[in-house]
Amino acid sequence: MAKGRRTMFDRSRREFILQGLAWSVSLTGLTGCAAGGTHQQSNKEPNRGVTTTELQRKTLPDIQDVDWDLIITNGRVIDGTGKPGFSGTVAVTKDRISSVMEGNANIDQHVLYMGTERYRLKPDCQVILADGACITPGFIDVHTHNEEYLKTNPRAEVRLLQGVTSQIGGNCGESVDDIPRFYQRLGDLGINYGQLMGYRNLRRLAMGEEAEREASSREIDRMVDLLQQGLQAGSPGLSFALEYAPQSSATQRELKILAEALAHHRGIMATHLRSESVQLLESIDEMAEIAFESGVSWQYSHVKALFRDNWDKYPAVLQRISDAVAKGVDLWGDMYLYDFSSWDFGTGRISISEENIQLGLAHPRLFIASDSGLYANGRVSHPRAYGNFPKMLAHYVRDRQVISLEEAVAKMSGLPAQRFRISGRGKIAPGYKADMLIFRLEDVQDRAERNKPNLLPVGMRYVFVNGQAAVKEGEPTGNRSGQRLHFNS
Ligand SMILES: [Zn+2]
Repeated sequence: MAKGRRTMFDRSRREFILQGLAWSVSLTGLTGCAAGGTHQQSNKEPNRGVTTTELQRKTLPDIQDVDWDLIITNGRVIDGTGKPGFSGTVAVTKDRISSVMEGNANIDQHVLYMGTERYRLKPDCQVILADGACITPGFIDVHTHNEEYLKTNPRAEVRLLQGVTSQIGGNCGESVDDIPRFYQRLGDLGINYGQLMGYRNLRRLAMGEEAEREASSREIDRMVDLLQQGLQAGSPGLSFALEYAPQSSATQRELKILAEALAHHRGIMATHLRSESVQLLESIDEMAEIAFESGVSWQYSHVKALFRDNWDKYPAVLQRISDAVAKGVDLWGDMYLYDFSSWDFGTGRISISEENIQLGLAHPRLFIASDSGLYANGRVSHPRAYGNFPKMLAHYVRDRQVISLEEAVAKMSGLPAQRFRISGRGKIAPGYKADMLIFRLEDVQDRAERNKPNLLPVGMRYVFVNGQAAVKEGEPTGNRSGQRLHFNS
């Protein structure tokens, strides 16, 4: 069995060889190449399938010259919107998707045949034959804690190998004091990146270290000033963790003023609630009221009911989310896919219900994020840092069939992009940035577990970040083509 599996894998690997030059594949040759892995032809010696293409040359309309730098042919395009996948071919020019064509393509002597259309490729256009593999948008992880890791590991392979091409850091109230300076320090990254402001940082800057108390009006004004500056400098919003001191000293008044300032500038309020266990429902009600009254866009971070005694509250959590949305609150939530929190990483305790995870996956307002931390030395506090996104594909889509592939991809790309108003990402469509993945569902596997948290996943054949291959044939390339995320206000 092991032998048969390896053979299959080897063959499919060959089918994915990236060509540095456009190669010629005839109409008859294409099928043979896909099956036999013999398609690594040089474009200098076209040798097969001449008759069919000559016929096409006589009957088809004029050939169009195109400036595509990369073309991925004959994949199953899952575009990130949740709509059904289709057979298609995707073209990229520089860092953007330039064309998405439905149907299968053939290439012969630098010419791509697509239905009745013909396109003349540039000699150096890279061609990847996807051969039925999935082409999806790169995944977007809006909830991360790995500022220290990125400083020492700017290539961010742990993220890329999960298919994550964009990240937002600075969650749960913990960010950096000076975001522009932090970006400078990071330099070029392997992934696209954005940074929330942190409420803990704001409080410290406005109130000093002794911030375990109510803020004065002057101090709140100072926080509002800092908030406005941060939003103008390109941060998507402000994160909170009201469970932890000194953030837990926040009064309703202080939170409302900050929420109103965020609402005024269309910033996001991302909140780790005051309680995720005993006072869970009351904590949701507190935030729902603030969001309703201020009109702020509310991101409910790592939605869960923590500890066995509270598991039965989870349906009420989802109901409260639906009710708030029905009242007009701009509310979305993110969730990770493990049955224990980072507090229970070392205890062996199961603190989150698997049944509740599956209920959460079915809720239209919840999408996937990792809530994952990586320390500077690569140490992890939970396997979700290495496995969250591939686990969705391998476990919940393929093995358990809890959710369709299209919905799962939307919850990892299109929905987080829409929620954070990330400009031009999260979708396979012309004009969008070319953050794209190529994988076969049967190959994807997360491997990180509670007692082996830092095992890398497998199965991402190609990961493109802004049109550049960050993972090629399953291996990181070391490219650092990430860009700063831009947020529409
Ligand atoms: Zn948190």
